[in-house]
Amino acid sequence: MEHIKEIILCKYGEVILKGANRSTFEAQLLRDVKRRAALFGHYDIRARQSTVYVEPLDTDAEDAIDGVFAQLKKVFGFVALCKAAVCEKDMDAILAAAKAYLPEKLANVSTFKCESRRSDKRFPLSSPEISGEVGGAVLEACPHLTVDVQNPDVVVKTEIREEYAYIHAGQDKGAGGMPLGSAGKGMLLLSGGIDSPVAGYRMMKRGMTVECVHFESFPYTSEAAREKVFELARELAEFCGTVKVHVISLTHIQEAIRDHCEEDYFTLLLRRFMMRLASRSAEENSCPVLVTGESLGQVASQTLKAMVCTEDAADRPVFRPLVGMDKEEIIEIAREIGTFDTSTLPYDDCCTVFTPRHPKTQPELYKVVNEENRIDAAALTDEAWETRHCVVLRQGE
Ligand code: ATP
Ligand code: MG
Repeated sequence: MEHIKEIILCKYGEVILKGANRSTFEAQLLRDVKRRAALFGHYDIRARQSTVYVEPLDTDAEDAIDGVFAQLKKVFGFVALCKAAVCEKDMDAILAAAKAYLPEKLANVSTFKCESRRSDKRFPLSSPEISGEVGGAVLEACPHLTVDVQNPDVVVKTEIREEYAYIHAGQDKGAGGMPLGSAGKGMLLLSGGIDSPVAGYRMMKRGMTVECVHFESFPYTSEAAREKVFELARELAEFCGTVKVHVISLTHIQEAIRDHCEEDYFTLLLRRFMMRLASRSAEENSCPVLVTGESLGQVASQTLKAMVCTEDAADRPVFRPLVGMDKEEIIEIAREIGTFDTSTLPYDDCCTVFTPRHPKTQPELYKVVNEENRIDAAALTDEAWETRHCVVLRQGE
């Protein structure tokens, strides 16, 4: 039997194509696709008609197409993806390709229907005519199938495009969102918990490039806790290729707070130092906003008043993509993106060092500032700032 060429079609909804951003968005999408496809072999990649075409250039690349397909499901900006057979824009060629390509794809389903789309209006048959002919060919090649137009297991689609015709047996959902890099850069405060990796993912999905700052408190926090955060960053890198983590030590700050301030304020004071240092790191790394995994009311330090006191110490906007979500909803996403198991490893974090027994849930800013004035916040911030170092985590390493 003649060799059927299979390629991947990735479709990006019209939504991201508005106006003058179109070519920038396309370039960003293509960059993401090219980086991922290159992990598997040689592919020709081009954008046309709201679709990115990924075509294997040799037999190794053909064999690796399933791996590429799985990768491309993580590309933000695509709404749907499918693998498709390519053939000439000629009805005999289309029917031959359908008979050769579809039986394997449809082996495990029992009902189907056909749809067609012509973006080339010069094609001699109408869409319903194409669907009818392809449907006949499918029934001939796959006698176990029946047609169900209401609720089919699979929709077989024929698309007559600019250069060729494409036939596919159902498409998968894409990652959605906006192309990576289309929405500027943010500095994510990454802890070892469940929430902050999800917060980072949600911003990446909207096109933001994310760098991370992680605070530790050695020896009160362990080497294992730091490794865990690097592992989370590596898991996030699955979505964007590379994640930088800036690590800063809060040990002396926490000891000073413990020794000089009222216990009820420990967590709030600590969080203000985090905001201050994260702001510096954001400034140094050109991030106009901070991102946290806070969710309203989740813990004492995330009440409305507590967040107001915390944010007061930041020098730029703080994005909280999870602020209106329940823990259950956050956990669901953590499982989906593959960070949940790492996040729930036994866990120590500087937030759990010197935890107050009765944290303030309705703090007044001036009282928090009063407590802060018992220590030399500026000098402690400067000292902690000097402990920073950067680790780069890459996808698949
Ligand atoms: P998470 O699951 O993300 O740890 P959490 O519910 O434990 O969140 P907190 O510990 O109060 O909440 O932290 C709130 C947010 O502050 C986190 O989502 C994260 O953005 C930031 N944060 C907390 N601890 C750290 C840390 N050690 N390093 C960097 N950021 C932190
Ligand atoms: Mg935490």
